[in-house]
Amino acid sequence: MQQWITGLNTTCVLCNDTQESCSHLFFECRYSEQVWKKLVGGMMQEGYTADWTELVEIISKPWLNQTMTFLIRYTLQATLHVIWRERNLRRHGEQPHDAAHLVQFIDKTLRLKLLSVKGTGNKHFEENLMICFGSR
Ligand SMILES: [Zn+2]
Repeated sequence: MQQWITGLNTTCVLCNDTQESCSHLFFECRYSEQVWKKLVGGMMQEGYTADWTELVEIISKPWLNQTMTFLIRYTLQATLHVIWRERNLRRHGEQPHDAAHLVQFIDKTLRLKLLSVKGTGNKHFEENLMICFGSR
């Protein structure tokens, strides 16, 4: 975009520290990394990463088990959407939200989504969900 529009401000609006890029937004940026880590740090444990290339690799192949793979993929999808929306709101002059607000919103979204899965009779899946949410 900087090549198309001379003088365009491409500084990250989430941290105001450096130039915006895909890998910066997801999740080199200290703001977005704070959100990501709070959501999946406990779940991923020693496998935790905020590196975009590593994340793509992780979600591209089955992880620890089916439940964890589902949760990491779904959490990533929801987090990307909410971070991108926050970025766009700030670009258009809206009031910024702190990282804790985004974490709370994404967590609520995930829980509502998972309520639709709960009660399907898959006891193993439900037990793993409890473990995952207990890790936050
Ligand atoms: Zn940033």
